[in-house]
Amino acid sequence: MAGPKKTRPIGQSTLAVHGGADHRGPGDPISQPLVQSVNYVQEFGAKGGEEIQYSRYGNTPNIELMQRRIALLEGSEEALVLASGMGATACAILALLRPGDHMISSSWIYGGTHKLFTQELVAMGIEVTFVNPDERRVFTNSMRQNTRVIFVESPVNPTARVIDIAKLALLAKSAGVALVVDSTLASPINCRPIAHGADVVIHSATKYLNGHHDILCGVVAGTSSYIEEVRRKMIVWGQAPDPFACWLLERGIKTLDVRVKRCNENAMKVAEWCEGRPEIRKVHYAGLASHRDHALAKKLLDGFGGLLSIELAGGSDAADHFVRKLKMISLASSFGGVDTLVIEPRYSSHAHMTSAERAEIGIPDGFLRLSIGIENAEDIIADISQALQ
Ligand code: PLP
Repeated sequence: MAGPKKTRPIGQSTLAVHGGADHRGPGDPISQPLVQSVNYVQEFGAKGGEEIQYSRYGNTPNIELMQRRIALLEGSEEALVLASGMGATACAILALLRPGDHMISSSWIYGGTHKLFTQELVAMGIEVTFVNPDERRVFTNSMRQNTRVIFVESPVNPTARVIDIAKLALLAKSAGVALVVDSTLASPINCRPIAHGADVVIHSATKYLNGHHDILCGVVAGTSSYIEEVRRKMIVWGQAPDPFACWLLERGIKTLDVRVKRCNENAMKVAEWCEGRPEIRKVHYAGLASHRDHALAKKLLDGFGGLLSIELAGGSDAADHFVRKLKMISLASSFGGVDTLVIEPRYSSHAHMTSAERAEIGIPDGFLRLSIGIENAEDIIADISQALQ
């Protein structure tokens, strides 16, 4: 006897293009129209954020469309789109913690997030313990009675380290704390943390989700009840996105799958080429068998991503010379877009640290981060090759 018919899961690329395989009828627009209106005519007697449509409440058409699309891509009950990645992180954390609570955070996180935790949360009476994820049992050993959240970024910018979120999710579940993952580097094409047991996923949608270096946006995904709480924070802290940013985000997300796969492919080719060069002391890319997290990356990721870093044997002088000589690759601080970009962390994300401090966290002088785009890999390699000379 035939068993119940299994429903075939809809592919990520289909979800990215139009949110599902639903039939569209005559007259339906293929491209979603932009509704650049903040206010909407309301029913007489309508009250509050549920009944009144207003862009800051995150309930206008282009914003809601993106919320549904991202929830599908992340495999979460719901998602919220916010004005920036920082806005997303701030509201996601404020929805989980109260004064007197404690959070354990990986110390391998984006500098802006680090400032938010050390300067703002601490001033609100929230305690944060930063841990080095390489230390054995460090998350377990840092757990306290008042711990509510474990926060990690994975994969990690700019060292391409990968954190075992599946293992951390088991710890978080058993301790009754929320595991929050900043999954910006992976995008939902390369990793869906909720499937590995995470409770909350954050993105700077400014990066891969949009992918064209032209909007600021952030994302929080999780359960419906949790997203409701984040929405309350978003409304009062004024962190909702603009409808036009969401319209551009939708346009960017349509090509997310093909862009990310091309970035994965290109970055792998560039990393392999770099590995054989005498001018390059070390290549940081989890797709390489030489990377210390390669096995873990294979387990957790569907692709190794577009971000890779190199250490030049000639140190900081060689790195300065390299950046000046690049022709096609631009010096710019963001990542995750269609254009290949480079930065020297000692002048940007890690400028506040001494050379010795940077070296201690694996970012010695001569370290360069490349965000590989979707150009032809041969052209990216040719530019790197001429700049190394
Ligand atoms: N998370 C990560 C990993 C980032 O790299 C960044 C920014 O570079 C952010 C969050 C903050 O995102 P946004 O610049 O969109 O506020």
